[in-house]
Amino acid sequence: MRSKPNILVTGTPGTGKTTTSSALAEATHLRHINIGDLVKDKKLHDGWDDELQCYIINEDLVCDELEDTMEEGGNIVDYHGCDFFPERLFDRVVVLQTENSVLYDRLSKRGYTGAKLTNNIECEIFQELLEEAKESYREEIVVAMKSNTVDDMNRNVTTITEWVSSWGSTT
Ligand code: ADP
Ligand code: MN
Repeated sequence: MRSKPNILVTGTPGTGKTTTSSALAEATHLRHINIGDLVKDKKLHDGWDDELQCYIINEDLVCDELEDTMEEGGNIVDYHGCDFFPERLFDRVVVLQTENSVLYDRLSKRGYTGAKLTNNIECEIFQELLEEAKESYREEIVVAMKSNTVDDMNRNVTTITEWVSSWGSTT
């Protein structure tokens, strides 16, 4: 068993993965890995998708890059996808969820419009990330958490921090 757990924080863009993960990293002293930033910084992509306005992630390169760090444990991985990581990498998979109207405002503020905006709202309506997580990981390690308000976020950080503290001490 790893001495410290690996946690995946996933959800539709705008649900609060990065904000939650950095607060969680501060509270737990685990390492926050933002996959979007990693892909950009280490060029783990196959170019830029003009239509979707994002890098075309190379999943194999990402998994290779993460291998040693994940083996060590103690990582919070932040990404809006979850089906391409090896299942054994994670001890907890957190799926953040946000009400449509709240998400709509957050993504508009971020400058999303047109198909990019509606695709993400649909992704949230159909709970695509929760489905993907349940298909990819054992059901007992997948937890959905509401992320509508700052109170929600603080509560989520506290809940996950308590779980991290108890890691290894449970028999
Ligand atoms: P993601 O990484 O999932 O795309 P972010 O963490 O970047 O989402 O959050 C998107 C925006 O929404 C940010 O402006 C952030 O401050 C805000 N936000 C995120 N989670 C919450 C929350 N639970 N309550 C209120 N605002 C939030
Ligand atoms: Mn983010």
